[in-house]
Amino acid sequence: MIARVLAAASFAAAVHATHRRKGVAQEPYINHPLEVAQILAEHDAPEAAILAALLHDTVEDSGDDPEPVTLDALTARFGAEVASIVAEVSDDKSLPKEMRKALQVRLGPKKSDGAKQVKLADKISNLRAMVSAPPANWDHARRVEYVGWGGRVAAGLRGVNPSLEALFDETYRDAMTALAREAV
Ligand code: ZN
Repeated sequence: MIARVLAAASFAAAVHATHRRKGVAQEPYINHPLEVAQILAEHDAPEAAILAALLHDTVEDSGDDPEPVTLDALTARFGAEVASIVAEVSDDKSLPKEMRKALQVRLGPKKSDGAKQVKLADKISNLRAMVSAPPANWDHARRVEYVGWGGRVAAGLRGVNPSLEALFDETYRDAMTALAREAV
């Protein structure tokens, strides 16, 4: 288990080597999948979900690379279950952004248990970042809208991991409280 987890972490670190997070601090991107995987490990998620969490943005974010990461490559290296969770949590980047956001809300309930947990932990990480390290050019209203959308996506991911769902609820409340405080 530990060897596989570290292999996935190293693989993702290589893919994201030049990527940065959107926050003002421009943290290395790999901090995000590591956080998502840690959240899942701390909430007893299955190994396939933890590995998929480490790899969850490697396909989406390598599209412009000379050698993009493919689901086949992930299958060969980490197995079909991990690759299929990554596929389920990847957006179709050929669609416009607003449509992708709407689809995340609509398709959440249809996803596998593993994918639901990865998506929920992903939203926890993203809502935390929206408070602690928001993108420099996002105004208050846009951040509030983002957190609200995260809540709508999360509503369709319930019924699998109650302690993870409780952590999402707490994170959502904290984010909305922090944003409300900022507004006054
Ligand atoms: Zn993510």
